[in-house]
Amino acid sequence: MTDNKNKLLNELGISDRVIAYGEAALSKLEKRFKEIDEIAERNQAKVLLAMSKNRVSAACFAGSTGYGYDDLGRDTLEKVYSDTFHTEAALVRPQITCGTHALAVALSANLRPGEELLSINGAPYDTLQEVIGIRPSPCSLAEMGVNYSQVELNREGRFDFDAIAGAISSDTALVAIQRSKGYSMRPSFSVDEIGEAIAFVKKLKPGVKVMVDNCYGEFTELIEPSDVGADMTVGSLIKNPGGGLAPSGGYICGTKECVERCGYRLSAPGLGSEVGANFGIIDRLYQGFFLAPTVTAAAEKGAIFAAALYEPLGFNCVPKASEKRHDIIQSIELGSEEAMLAFCKGIQLAAPVDAYVTPLPWDMPGYDDKVVMAAGAFIQGSSIELSADGPIREPYAVYFQGGLTWAHAKLGILMSLQEMMNKGAVNL
Ligand SMILES: *Cc1c(COP(=O)(O)O)cnc(C)c1O
Repeated sequence: MTDNKNKLLNELGISDRVIAYGEAALSKLEKRFKEIDEIAERNQAKVLLAMSKNRVSAACFAGSTGYGYDDLGRDTLEKVYSDTFHTEAALVRPQITCGTHALAVALSANLRPGEELLSINGAPYDTLQEVIGIRPSPCSLAEMGVNYSQVELNREGRFDFDAIAGAISSDTALVAIQRSKGYSMRPSFSVDEIGEAIAFVKKLKPGVKVMVDNCYGEFTELIEPSDVGADMTVGSLIKNPGGGLAPSGGYICGTKECVERCGYRLSAPGLGSEVGANFGIIDRLYQGFFLAPTVTAAAEKGAIFAAALYEPLGFNCVPKASEKRHDIIQSIELGSEEAMLAFCKGIQLAAPVDAYVTPLPWDMPGYDDKVVMAAGAFIQGSSIELSADGPIREPYAVYFQGGLTWAHAKLGILMSLQEMMNKGAVNL
């Protein structure tokens, strides 16, 4: 029976040994996968309800050009997002280039000169350092007179409430929280933990606004940061909520007051969110959002499977296969450059696009160490599609994420292990 099944996998280069090892690991994950499927089902219902309530119809899929006035598809999509995230308003636009852009719009629209931005999870994601001006950049918030400070996490990687209380001042206007760990080894935050922090800062300073960087977190839990008091919940459409179909874009869901300002910042004062053509790609934003709960679930299953495969081989995995997840990122400490390159080569070999290229370390702008990246995606740079990357430095951790289908994520992880074996980095 297995002969025929293995034949195709063997043709991909996966040996019977790796297949058997994978099946044994998988047999222990039934319960975890069932939990993931249940979350996906509830989130699917949430999206479905938002679509039917807002009477999504074929007329919503029409393209628009020029100013994009009265774009029914765009305006309805924003209602679908705001109903899914349970917010007063949403800005969902292909003109928002990426997650960094969405975050930069949210921050610069809602901070004025002399006010202070406070990050309560230590340093924010790499690309935000220039946005804020921690690393000097033209047009940074610092250049516009916005001050910045940050509170480090405690030793367990959790919010340090005493330090937060000490840091909030009369100037603090906006508190930023990053849900996913990004490229660090701290745990990601659950929405409940984020809710606790939001309640804490709002009790200390009622008028303060809170923005949550929700990148990679969407649909991994039953609730979103917007359900626990965030004034703005922000992310990228080439991650979870784009479902792999959105060719570009970002979203900001939040209060009417905050989101309106974001519209003015994104286009121009006076114009706001009334303008912005959809260039004929709006149907993909709808369909991608519709698929997002199950695509996210596929990616999570891949992450859990990867941890279940690599943990018993002695590699430190964050989070562990058995731990609750709050995003789709899986980090695996591989211990050497050779092992990282082999892992990434395996992921690349499993890509539907550019499978023939070999990922090599390169000097990426903005990073001190060389970075290796494996990605063969339909949408360039999309990390809801199967991908892996990491800086070449101790502890030689790869950050693995994505997979539009569970079957593809599984094959990719098996191929990574096969490459590790071929290079002598593991023994089964
Ligand atoms: C991906 C990501 C961003 C934004 O990155 P872009 O590449 O600009 O989309 C911001 N914060 C976190 C935590 C992320 O994972």
